[in-house]
Amino acid sequence: MRAANQVVASVLDELRTIAAPGVTTAELDATVEARVREAGATPAFKGYRGFPASLCASINDEVVHGIPSPRKLMAGDIVSLDVGVLLDGYYGDSAVTVAIGTVSDEVKQLLRVTREALELGIERMRVGLRVSDIGHAIQCHVEANGFSVVREFVGHGIGTKLHEEPQIPNYGEPGQGPRLAEGMVLAIEPMVNIGKPTVRVLDDQWTAVTSDGSLSAHFEHTVAVTSSSAEVLTRRPSDSQTVTA
Ligand code: MG
Ligand code: MG
Repeated sequence: MRAANQVVASVLDELRTIAAPGVTTAELDATVEARVREAGATPAFKGYRGFPASLCASINDEVVHGIPSPRKLMAGDIVSLDVGVLLDGYYGDSAVTVAIGTVSDEVKQLLRVTREALELGIERMRVGLRVSDIGHAIQCHVEANGFSVVREFVGHGIGTKLHEEPQIPNYGEPGQGPRLAEGMVLAIEPMVNIGKPTVRVLDDQWTAVTSDGSLSAHFEHTVAVTSSSAEVLTRRPSDSQTVTA
């Protein structure tokens, strides 16, 4: 699982450097597919329930599951880049949201708070705590900063399937759900809106957008519970690990 997830991490690192004004999400998708196959892995999303691409690219008010297209990224956009791969029978899954050019302070704060919420959720991944302790930590940080947590989509177990039990909501009361045990691997993925938490799915049957049109951010790591800590399998060299709660 480390190997599969490091393929994802390195692809996202490259995407982050090439996502710029004038680049299309279809071009980013082509880069993902090429790099994943060069690594001897298979894109996990392509063909998953009919999804047509290797990358989910969700721009601005798009929350998740955006389909790559000839649409050019523009300065001031934010784009969630979500990549999954299958390598030697195991899946990896991770996402980042990237600012294109200059964005407002509020948008910078949205990205920072979502990233911090992910790290705070990961901090709760300790043997003996419960699944809802993760989502509770995420929700508290997001709402304390005036943003809202999407309910309709959740994190998940991951291993020999892309989506396994248990589901990991990004909200809820603490102390509920399955107990975390050594060896569990979970994909934690808060989706955070500037406005209301509700979303709707477009006619393409995939793209989820905020129902009020507000901007949305999404960060995801695949994380293993070990006896002593949480090991982030999709940690990228460029990642800041600093969290200020
Ligand atoms: Mg993902
Ligand atoms: Mg996922």
